[in-house]
Amino acid sequence: MKPTIVLVGRPNVGKSTLFNRLTRSRDALVADMPGLTRDRHYGHGKLGSKAYLVVDTGGFEPLAKDGIMHEMARQTEQAVAEADAVIFLVDGRVGVTALDKEIANKLRKINRPTFVAVNKSEGLNRGVVVADFHELGLGDPVAVSATHGEGVRSLIEEVLEPY
Ligand code: GDP
Ligand code: MG
Repeated sequence: MKPTIVLVGRPNVGKSTLFNRLTRSRDALVADMPGLTRDRHYGHGKLGSKAYLVVDTGGFEPLAKDGIMHEMARQTEQAVAEADAVIFLVDGRVGVTALDKEIANKLRKINRPTFVAVNKSEGLNRGVVVADFHELGLGDPVAVSATHGEGVRSLIEEVLEPY
């Protein structure tokens, strides 16, 4: 069975961009409009001989109580529950937000193997950009750039290490 890697994070952190890079597809719609990706998107990827499945979620909105945001949250929680590994994407240019902390709390409870990836880190000092995100309590964050590809291969190698 291929491991399933689920990408979570608040809107606009770069989940769909990373999904495209991990699956080399244009399946996920990338846009400047936050929250545009409303459904789960599945794609296949390969690292050497290791095949994996990637799920791009439309946002993890623990504050939402009803409507479309609630449905997005439900779908995302279901995707995470089915995940072999979770990549929790955050924005290194914005820093830790209240929503990041809420997502982190949920992920700690769900207790799947989780990797914090600090995106948009191109041109920034990797050590400095990850430092703040230790407070999320989900291990050592790694710096990546989904648009430039930096750090993505080593992240996926680490995620797939047990497989
Ligand atoms: P999503 O809402 O989490 O799926 O985020 P998207 O993948 O749609 O990306 C949101 C915005 O962030 C888009 O304008 C992307 O081009 C931009 N973005 C994504 N990854 C990076 C990155 O590594 N560096 C920079 N500078 N921008 C990025
Ligand atoms: Mg998206």
